[in-house]
Order: sequence, then C-alpha cells, then structure tokens
Amino acid sequence: MNIILFGAPGAGKGTQAKRLVESRGLVQLSTGDMLRAAIEAGTELGRQAKDIMDRGDLVSDDIILGMIAERMDSPECANGVILDGFPRTVAQADGLGAMFEARGLTLNHVIEVQVDEAALFARIETRAAETGGSRADDNAETLRKRLAVYHENTAPLLPYYDGKGLLRTVDGMASIDEVGQAIDAILAS
Ligand code: ADP
Repeated sequence: MNIILFGAPGAGKGTQAKRLVESRGLVQLSTGDMLRAAIEAGTELGRQAKDIMDRGDLVSDDIILGMIAERMDSPECANGVILDGFPRTVAQADGLGAMFEARGLTLNHVIEVQVDEAALFARIETRAAETGGSRADDNAETLRKRLAVYHENTAPLLPYYDGKGLLRTVDGMASIDEVGQAIDAILAS
C-alpha cells in the first residue's frame, strides 16, 4: 500500500506517518527528514538545501525527485511507503506518477490532514519551544513564508488528486488518536 499524507506545514503529517510505520510496517519517506539528514551529514546537497529551507522556500523538483527515486528502489520499500512532505508541487506529482508507472506501483490513497492556520501558528510555536528551536525553520516568520509557498505551489495538488478520485480529507484539529482513527478508517475502506 502506498499513501501520500498531505497537509500544510505543521498539520501533523509526520506524527501520523510514524504511527502508520508502527501499525502497518510501511516505510516513511519524508523529504524534509532526508534533507535535514543531508544537512547534518554535511553533504553538497545539504549545503545547497540549507539556505533554501531556512528561508521557507522549496528545494528544486529535480533534487527532490532524485532523492525519492533512490529510496523507492531500496528493497525495504517493497511493502509500501508513506510519502510525507512530498509531492509539494505539480511537477513533483507528475514525476511521482511516472516513477510509479515505470515500477508498476499503485498510489492507493492521498490523505489530506486539514487544519486551520491560526492553530498552525500555535503548534509551531509550541514545537519551537519544546525543541529549543533546533529546527531553523520553526519560527513564525518562516512559517508564514512556508504557508504562502504551500498555497501557491502545493494546494493545487488537492484538485489534482481529487480529479483522480484519490483524495480523502481528515480533520487535523482532532486529537492525535482521533486523526489516527480517521486515517485507519480510510485505509480499511
Ligand atoms: P513540515 O513537515 O514541517 O511541513 P518538512 O520537514 O516536510 O516540513 O520540510 C521542511 C523544508 O524542507 C521545506 O520548507 C522545504 O524547504 C524543504 N522540503 C521538504 N520537502 C520538500 C519537497 N518535497 N519539495 C521541496 N522542498 C522540500
């Protein structure tokens, strides 16, 4: 089973993805985590990505698609993947479609975790406080930028996947458990 978890920055995709990894043995492919690992490791890619991420802009589609393709081909992904934070542009979604087609894979569900933006600010501020600001992109100013980038580049993927009959929406304002149950119900359908 292959799933896209979709939602604005701070919507709680990562939390739900980790839950599904434990309950279903899927592999979480988080492009944000991969980029942060590259920064941590001090690779050339990490160096290129850092300023872009700190600004709240998007890393180029080519880099992102290359990272995903490399991971998709590893045997651990054979049981299925949860895509978290990817795709973020129509070009990435087209690239993903081509990648799946070439490998004979099916995209089963696109699940949007829907939240209201005032609540997102509160969550980001809490996360920044809890992690001691360890993520350079966890502050109100960058969040504003990331939300603008989300509306401009990423929100068009909602009608894109709705048109393919794949989009389902859950209420991300509910508790973590309730959101998890709503996702489980979709996966069981
Ligand atoms: P969150 O889960 O908080 O919404 P991520 O950890 O997914 O955020 O992403 C952090 C940053 O990494 C983004 O703001 C962007 O700069 C970069 N990034 C992550 N995924 C992608 C992607 N698919 N395309 C382009 N840039 C990305």
